[in-house]
Amino acid sequence: MRCFKHQDKEAVGSCRACSKGLCSDCASDLGYGLACKGKHENLVETYNALIEKNAEVYDAVPKNLWITPIFFAFMGLVFAVDGFIARGITDFSFIIGIGFIVFAIIIYIKNKQLFSKTKPIKGKD
Ligand SMILES: [Zn+2]
Ligand SMILES: [Zn+2]
Repeated sequence: MRCFKHQDKEAVGSCRACSKGLCSDCASDLGYGLACKGKHENLVETYNALIEKNAEVYDAVPKNLWITPIFFAFMGLVFAVDGFIARGITDFSFIIGIGFIVFAIIIYIKNKQLFSKTKPIKGKD
């Protein structure tokens, strides 16, 4: 690949915004990619900020997936164990506790389905 402006020079890379070939004189190295010097630096920086923000959002999802189910499962366990020790499996607290645990599993499955739907489709470009 040759530089878009200097056809006699070999390009060191291409601009992230316009994909044109850039020689070392035309390229502005932003650390994570190249941009046309004095032309697309701001644009490429904005692109990168957006990509990083998206990555943060997707990183946060698997953690949120667990918070509610763990809370209900824990509550359920406390009720179930307490009721079972006191009066066995016919105890009302034990039944409520099992209900909480079942509820926690349902929430977890639902969250997981929701997450797999919003996941970005990879391998398309
Ligand atoms: Zn450019
Ligand atoms: Zn050039």
